[in-house]
Amino acid sequence: MEKDIFCKIIDGEIPCHKVYEDDDVLAFLDISQVTKGHTLVISKKHYDNFLTIPQEEMHRVMDVAQRIGQVEVKLLGARGVNILTNCYPAAGQTVMHFHVHVIPRYNSEEGFILEMKNNAEGLNLPALAKEIKKEL
Ligand code: 5GP
Repeated sequence: MEKDIFCKIIDGEIPCHKVYEDDDVLAFLDISQVTKGHTLVISKKHYDNFLTIPQEEMHRVMDVAQRIGQVEVKLLGARGVNILTNCYPAAGQTVMHFHVHVIPRYNSEEGFILEMKNNAEGLNLPALAKEIKKEL
């Protein structure tokens, strides 16, 4: 099977601007820099996404993402941070290797726009909550 681009970065076949590395986790600057400091935190072992990575390994990645967010607020003067992980193409995932975006936010006129519209009309929220809850 063809290696995905992040597996190639882990194996040193493609260069990256590394900000953190340990035995399980690698973090590097996203090539697109939607805002200054936009960083990707990935698991070194291949998993497709957040929904398929084992919990303990996911926690290690999230710990590093939190730390990078804290440092970027302090160091780069970001006024906020978005922590984002896309799962499957329907949700915008383009690289099928689990990764967390750390996106520092400085002002409203920057490269990242997140819009959440209210679509609750017509939904039966008590029934929906009950349906989800019984599977957890
Ligand atoms: P996704 O859309 O899957 O959530 O995010 C994939 C991200 O990987 C994108 O933000 C894209 O800019 C980044 N990316 C894709 N190829 C490379 C690469 O070769 N190097 C780096 N540093 N980032 C990459």
